[in-house]
Amino acid sequence: MSSAHFRKRKTCRICGAKDLKLILNLGKTALANAFLSKEAARKKDATYPLQLVFCRKCSLVQLAHVVDPEVLFSGYHYLTSGSPVLVDHFQREARDIVKRFGLGRGDLAVEIGSNDGILLSAIKDEVNVLGVDPAETAALEAKKRGVETIVDFFGVRVAKDIVKKHGQAKVIFANNVIAHIDDLDDVFRGIEILLRDDGVFVFEAHWVYNLIGDGGFDQIYHEHLSYYSLHAVKYLAERFGFMVTDVQRVPIHGESLRFFVQKKGKPSARVKKLLALERSVGIDSMRAFRRFAPKVEKNKRDLKSLLDKLKKKGASIAGYGASAKGNTLLNYVGVTAKHLDFITDTIPLKQWTFTPGAHIPVVPPDILFTKRPDYLLLLAWNYAPAILHREQALRAQGTKFIIPVPKVKVM
Ligand SMILES: [Zn+2]
Repeated sequence: MSSAHFRKRKTCRICGAKDLKLILNLGKTALANAFLSKEAARKKDATYPLQLVFCRKCSLVQLAHVVDPEVLFSGYHYLTSGSPVLVDHFQREARDIVKRFGLGRGDLAVEIGSNDGILLSAIKDEVNVLGVDPAETAALEAKKRGVETIVDFFGVRVAKDIVKKHGQAKVIFANNVIAHIDDLDDVFRGIEILLRDDGVFVFEAHWVYNLIGDGGFDQIYHEHLSYYSLHAVKYLAERFGFMVTDVQRVPIHGESLRFFVQKKGKPSARVKKLLALERSVGIDSMRAFRRFAPKVEKNKRDLKSLLDKLKKKGASIAGYGASAKGNTLLNYVGVTAKHLDFITDTIPLKQWTFTPGAHIPVVPPDILFTKRPDYLLLLAWNYAPAILHREQALRAQGTKFIIPVPKVKVM
């Protein structure tokens, strides 16, 4: 794979401004979701620049480089159903929205990036549902759940097609997908066409407030092109004649924001409060980001030196949870197969593969019964309390957990 499969953006993807300031440079890394077969792991991975920039005009934090979607999503193994926490979260969200906006029989709910249909399957008996997702494997899973899915990228063309066949939608969902889209214009023009005048577009995205607060740099990977603040989403919505009528803080991926975007209405008290909170830490200017890079660089040094020190002492170390986040962390910090013997993961599709970049084998978690490492590097550190609780038996027998972010801790 040649490096011709990416390009550098010269303008902001929300407002078109050219004045983009570098916040953090994570170097050139392999694609975080591209888990490798044994054969592929023998070769060197293609790597792509991973740089975070800030737009002073609309406040959007975004990646400077865009990898071709065809390359980016070709090895995409992620299925929502693999995460019980997400299943519960999205299904509850779907039911809440149906109730709050009074959806009933005959109303259409569309989900952009519907993955394996988990969210829509929760409401398919009450309303008409339709998923849109370019990932064929995920769409097949959705169909098995009874969720009809268009295998495509959402935009104006797909929106027109849906309206022709099914009419306009009362709700459009999009969770952890708007941040993955480079051409926001096509998507928002599509939403304008698809959404009824009394409809609502609800989407969740990581909140940049937490990225800078936690220093959780492992949220940064090539799929994840935008890192939203309410300020940036407000700018984006208003550009297309929409408004942000409500916003919720949701306890997912650390903490995300759920945005409610409508054609008419007025902003709730929560919207005003959150805008004020963001302003107070300087998210609408470079102020919030000046300390970010030094903090992340210190985190990297601390983790690398701990792992080097433990290996020198002869300790065995493995990883816990093979995720895209984890791969950003491993590759940026420089953790390799010399440090970690293996990484466990519960998702069958990932097992017996190798992590991109670091080439560490991914194995089922039951290996921990036989090969008990001295240390487990917790790559899903945002779920630390739940995981530490779940793995009490392992810890009682002496295995210690290394929490890598925001500060390196051994527990
Ligand atoms: Zn901008």
